[in-house]
Amino acid sequence: MEYRITASQLRQKYFDFFTQRGHCRIASAPTVPDNDPTALFISAGMQPLVPYIMGQPHPAGRRLVNVQKCFRTSDIDQVGNTTHLTFFEMLGNWSLGAYFKREMIPWSWEFLTGKEGLALDPRRLYVTVFAGDDQVEKDRESVDLWREQFARAGIEAVEGERIFPLGRADNWWGPVGRTGPCGPDTEMFFDAGGVPCGSDCRPGCSCGKYVEIWNDVFMEYEKKADGTWGRLVQQTVDTGMGLARVLTMLNGLDSLYDIDTLRPLVDQIGRMSGRACERHARSFRIVADHANAACHLAADGVEPANIERGYVLRRLIRRAVVHARRLGIEQSIWAPLFERVRDGESEVYPELESRAGQILDALQGEEEQFERTLKEGLKRFEQVARRSEETIEGERAFDLFATYGFPLEMTQELAQERGLAVDAKAFQRAFARHQELSRRSAGQPRGAAHPSGLGDLSDHIPGALQ
Ligand SMILES: [Zn+2]
Repeated sequence: MEYRITASQLRQKYFDFFTQRGHCRIASAPTVPDNDPTALFISAGMQPLVPYIMGQPHPAGRRLVNVQKCFRTSDIDQVGNTTHLTFFEMLGNWSLGAYFKREMIPWSWEFLTGKEGLALDPRRLYVTVFAGDDQVEKDRESVDLWREQFARAGIEAVEGERIFPLGRADNWWGPVGRTGPCGPDTEMFFDAGGVPCGSDCRPGCSCGKYVEIWNDVFMEYEKKADGTWGRLVQQTVDTGMGLARVLTMLNGLDSLYDIDTLRPLVDQIGRMSGRACERHARSFRIVADHANAACHLAADGVEPANIERGYVLRRLIRRAVVHARRLGIEQSIWAPLFERVRDGESEVYPELESRAGQILDALQGEEEQFERTLKEGLKRFEQVARRSEETIEGERAFDLFATYGFPLEMTQELAQERGLAVDAKAFQRAFARHQELSRRSAGQPRGAAHPSGLGDLSDHIPGALQ
């Protein structure tokens, strides 16, 4: 496939643009947070930089630019369509008290429309700003700054037509806890063409006409313990641009899975299965996404386990294996798929290269272990499904987990395909009983094991950058 712009080229453009404006490029933090015990994974570009946004000096200075690896499972059920991924990359630039709206909005305009940036047609750009409410005033400064930018292209930017003031749900960030830094954001959208879905269709609508490409967050307030809002001494900017989404848009592709970092995985799955992606798109995409994510998590030192991060990785690997077998792939999928990931991305994430041995051991080891019980487990599942009406009992689902290594979510997915539900609460009770028994027999303190609880793993930061 010929690409107008590749992932590597887009990252480079972004880094060049901001390093020319005094920013220092910093490496991506690992997907496993080292400063945040409440989160299993980094799920937003700003998360590793929170301490610096809060005021701690950053060793690389006050102007930073990076690409951050992110992973989230909150949408994992939707992986398989054209628009969802568990692993994604966010481009971002950061001002730790160095500059604010007056610099950032013109730079956003230059990067989006200028030749050294993305050279987008300004007539297809739209923005949203914070409309204000009874607690915090409207972000008029951003409105004025955007008007000036559009005027440079001869466009009169009318509110409600070009600039959309929206409420707190759309254009407000933070605070992370009950108190702390927070502020309005301004989001940039590109009109992908096509007709509006209705009279309410506007930037922020989910119909796909307006693609969100960038988000500038302006931290200028501090929410205090008494519920009032003060002005921050150090104003900060953090921005987020989803690499895959913008590449898809710039290349005129229909699916995130067609970008140059993911397409080689899809093609490899095609070669291994001898089948066409078009006819088995969902399984192809699940294998591609989960394999990509599993490689990156393993590169950051996560190992398959029955709890926490390791359980998430285990689920990714096992689900990928189940879908690969469905596609008729009998061989191990990990060496060829890891090679595609490493070829495409070790330039920016060198841990894929330096930890190649450990990554392959973790992925292949898990596949081999699962392989021993998978066939029997599927047979057992079929028996259970045949005997179940509407709902598979929690005890049966737990047996599939304990005996055959079927994560609850996998049993739920298999059940759903047959129009059945799974009694997840009863599964959890059975799991807790099992835990209690093994704890007593081992004389250990209560562990944190949790074989499900996707809710625990979803984003813990409100309004996290998409
Ligand atoms: Zn719409």
